[in-house]
Amino acid sequence: MSNAQPLTELSADEIAAFRQVQQTAYETLKASGLKLDLTRGKPSAQQLDLSNDLLKLPTSYVDEAGVDTRNYGGLQGIAKLREIFAELLWVEPEQIVAGGNSSLTMMRDTLYYLTLFGGVDSPRPWSQDEKVRFITPVPGYDRHHTLLQSLGIEMVSVPMTPQGPDADAVAALVADDPTIKGIWVVPTYSNPAGAVCSQEVAAQLASMPTAAPDFKIFWDNAYAFHHLTQDEAKSADILSLASAAGHPNRPIIFASTSKITFAGAGVGFLAGSVEQVKWYLGHLANGSIGPDKINQLRHAEFFGDADGVRRHMRGHRDIIAPKFAEVQRILREGLGGKGIATWTDPIGGYFVSLDVLPGTATRVVQLAKDAGIALTPAGASYPYGTDPEDTNIRLAPTFPVPEEVTAAMEGVVTCVLLAAAEKLAG
Ligand code: PLP
Repeated sequence: MSNAQPLTELSADEIAAFRQVQQTAYETLKASGLKLDLTRGKPSAQQLDLSNDLLKLPTSYVDEAGVDTRNYGGLQGIAKLREIFAELLWVEPEQIVAGGNSSLTMMRDTLYYLTLFGGVDSPRPWSQDEKVRFITPVPGYDRHHTLLQSLGIEMVSVPMTPQGPDADAVAALVADDPTIKGIWVVPTYSNPAGAVCSQEVAAQLASMPTAAPDFKIFWDNAYAFHHLTQDEAKSADILSLASAAGHPNRPIIFASTSKITFAGAGVGFLAGSVEQVKWYLGHLANGSIGPDKINQLRHAEFFGDADGVRRHMRGHRDIIAPKFAEVQRILREGLGGKGIATWTDPIGGYFVSLDVLPGTATRVVQLAKDAGIALTPAGASYPYGTDPEDTNIRLAPTFPVPEEVTAAMEGVVTCVLLAAAEKLAG
């Protein structure tokens, strides 16, 4: 059998023989006593080391505007850091909030405020509507889904395409259904598909008529600057597109330095129209007298300017791009041409999205687990944890050291082959 022959073209006898070979390979894998983990979309220690100078900063506790960062106040965040990230996210400094260490918390708070109080253009709080639904492009980020689920907001899935969410499907859903109040979009190097939302898709999302007057785009740009190649994707300017289309309050932009500096001690950002920012800060003020401005000042000193962020990200790229290349090599050599798997080859972000033979993803993850390789649970990238095709597996190669990436991926290939052979053998 040629290496590139699709398994689906094999005779029953050939499949049986192939299955035997894979079973033996799997037993060898299992016996090797691995303890590896490809689940965590976390920066590696080597990446974190790039930011260790933060531990010596700030050099002063007074920022450029003369603010004593040790004290209360400054709810919107310090001016210098907002200036840097305003430039990077294509908004004006007055349109951005620098917050605490997590953008996910800012997304949660925004959703809570919408639910409890309604948005700037809401006729009433969302909680007073009988039903509230959100569009979730799939595969997507599991924490978006669990957050929506925790509030009883129903999820309506649309496919993620390489150009972003299927915008025609989204436009059709929102046109005359007022229960659909929003969509979550990870526009740049999406989690886990690595898709980059095109200008055209962004323009359609920004301008499409929606039955809900307070429809929101949660534009979660967590990986905006996380390029893996020289081909650095530029995020669409969603705020300008929406403003030009007459919907200035539709997008709410989120980003953070979690995967730029320290994942646990970075700075989160929220951006939007001035009115939207005021609305957010108005509600935030009921529970906060100001963010950790010392951490913000530390970050402002560390980067210096927007180019400082861009430069810093090249350091990350140098560390993680070889790991992604290794994932591609092993998938290509192990599964290429076999007709049982497809996968993304992202130019940025933190993940590779692997689609195995439908109906085998859960089995692959179980086989890998039994062989000591932790993979993200099958279905994790789908609302309610259920992938209807049982096909998608999210691979996260940033955290392990390179040798572990190699060993884990070789193991994954063995599991994919065995699960496919079992399935095809019937
Ligand atoms: N958004 C996406 C798409 C992510 O993948 C992640 C982390 O994995 C986050 C947000 C979390 O961001 P933060 O650390 O700023 O809360």
